[in-house]
Order: sequence, then structure tokens, then C-alpha cells
Amino acid sequence: MIYIITGGPATGKGTRSDILAKALGIAHISTGEILREVAKTNSEIKDKLSKGELISDEIITDLLRDRLKKDDCKKGFILDGYPRTLNQIYLLNNLLDEMGRKIDKVIELTAPDELVFKRILERKSCSKCGRMYGIDFPPKNPEICDDCGGKLEIRTDDTKETLQARINTYKENSKEILKYYKDCGLLLTVDSSGHPENIVKEALED
Ligand code: ADP
Repeated sequence: MIYIITGGPATGKGTRSDILAKALGIAHISTGEILREVAKTNSEIKDKLSKGELISDEIITDLLRDRLKKDDCKKGFILDGYPRTLNQIYLLNNLLDEMGRKIDKVIELTAPDELVFKRILERKSCSKCGRMYGIDFPPKNPEICDDCGGKLEIRTDDTKETLQARINTYKENSKEILKYYKDCGLLLTVDSSGHPENIVKEALED
């Protein structure tokens, strides 16, 4: 089972991917999370992430290829944040061909701009395990991760300025991606203003 979750910044991709992955017993692969991990030891990537710029298709696809080889992807996976360019669609098609697998559904999440800004400015993630917290799922203690006790931090790219750059990048690149998957008959558009748990019903219904 292979799902792709797409949508602009803070449309709830991470939260909904997590919920869906748990419900279906498949892996949640977030390219943003993979890159934030790499950024801890790579200043070039760190710099690009903090400016809201995309990482090169080659680098991100190599990282993804390695990740998809892991055992937890055997049953299936949800791709969160990839593909983000038309070229990444082709690279992903090649990658899946190599693996003898195919995409079941592409879910596009939409949300009104006011909600996106509110979500961004209130979200935090754990510096140790990467768990995300936000308006739908606040931590018990605003500084500390419920799961592992790690320190919660605001992402360096979660600023008003970077958010605008990320929204613009998404708008530029998403049109052709959505058209491509619509033409393949794989696209399902879901309004993400409702409760995150709704995603399980919405994803399986269509
Ligand atoms: P958001 O969707 O809120 O921007 P993500 O965690 O998905 O957050 O991505 C954070 C950043 O990681 C992006 O702004 C971009 O710099 C980089 N990134 C993530 N996925 C990709 C990708 N598929 N290709 C290139 N860059 C990526």
C-alpha cells in the first residue's frame, strides 16, 4: 500500500500521515524529517532548510531510496513531502519501478491561509525524537516531549518570512504535480480544517 500526502506548509501532512500510517500499519516517511536529521551534521542543508529552499532532487531522492529499503516499508508507506517537483515525480516512478511497486492514492490536503499561519506559529517538535505538537495535539508541558522527555523546539523555518517563501514555492510547484496525479486518476483532495482523525475515513472511502 503506497500513499502520497501532499499539500502546502502546515496543511497537516505530518499529523495526518502519522495517524493514517498507524491505522494502516505502514511506515510514515517524511522527507522534511529526513532532511532535518541530515541538517544536524550538514551546514549546507541546514542553511537551505532555514531559508525554506528546496533541496536538490538528486540528494533527496538518494536519501529516499535508502529509507525505502528498510524493513518497515515492506508492507507499505506514506510519503509525506515528496514528490515536490515534476522531476521528483519521474524519479519516484523510476524508484518504484525498481522496487516493483505502485502508488495507490495521492491525497492533497488543503487549509485556509489563516489556519496555516496559526498552525505554523504554534507548532513545535521534539529535538530528540522528532514528534510534532500543534494546535490539535498540544504537549502536556509546553517545553517537554510527552513521549521521551526531550526539549521541544520551534523549527528554524517556522517564521512568518520563511512561511511565505514556502507557500510560494508550493504554489509554484504544486500545479503540475496535482495535474499529473489527477490525470492518472490517483488524486483525492481533502479539506484539512476538520479533526485530524477524519483522515482515516476520508482516505479509505474513495
Ligand atoms: P513543510 O511542508 O511544512 O514545508 P516539510 O517538513 O515537509 O515541511 O519540509 C521542510 C523543508 O524540507 C522544505 O521547506 C524543503 O526545504 C525541504 N524538503 C522537504 N521535502 C523535500 C523534497 N521532496 N524536495 C526538496 N526539498 C524538500
